[in-house]
Amino acid sequence: MSGHSGPLISFNTIGSSLSSLKNCQSYINTGMELATNVAFDLIEIRGDELDINNMDKVMLEYSAMNRELNQYIQAVEETMDQVKRDHPERIPDFKALVKEKFAALQGRNTDEDLKRNERYLQFINHLKEMRKQVGPAQGTDWEQPTEELDEDITITQTQTNFICPITLVEMKKPMRNKVCNHVYEEEAIRIMIENKPKKARCPKIGCDNLNMKITDLVPDAVLKRAIEIQNKQKSQ
Ligand SMILES: [Zn+2]
Repeated sequence: MSGHSGPLISFNTIGSSLSSLKNCQSYINTGMELATNVAFDLIEIRGDELDINNMDKVMLEYSAMNRELNQYIQAVEETMDQVKRDHPERIPDFKALVKEKFAALQGRNTDEDLKRNERYLQFINHLKEMRKQVGPAQGTDWEQPTEELDEDITITQTQTNFICPITLVEMKKPMRNKVCNHVYEEEAIRIMIENKPKKARCPKIGCDNLNMKITDLVPDAVLKRAIEIQNKQKSQ
């Protein structure tokens, strides 16, 4: 080993560990989707409010896991960058460096951050919509505000969130734009993007996303479920 200088850290090994860590993200996403669906089921059958609150806690736990995972990945990536940049003479204690960076990131965390998780926010918003549709759960004195007793008004207000900004009818396969978070009917948005010679702007009024790409679109399973449940309620 004589004559060799510089760190003997295998960046390839770290890189592949990192990508398997990133796979954990999909487990967290699946868990959040499941918890959301359970909460929807509970609302649909007018289940116990305590059980619904438990799903809220589960969602916040997933949000915490998600934050921890992302911050750990960030700490490893920053450490790798630092070692590559500094080219230290002696092999640095990589583990200790990561631990230090990770602790610094965690030191700034607050509980409020957890509620800003995108999936958690979606969960809260859809839950609110569904409560309006289905009414109060058991074990709560939740009351319908008197001015909303007019059923037609309530339904109209709710439906606007389910309407595609292109077709202006209720969506069947909602696709969410990861960039601006707006939602459209799958077929309509595909046709729109494909037929624009240059850049396609988001059709939602007031949106400043001027360059939409097909790859920015992801199916919104939670919204799809909410629309289906609403239609089921209406037909009963
Ligand atoms: Zn938009």
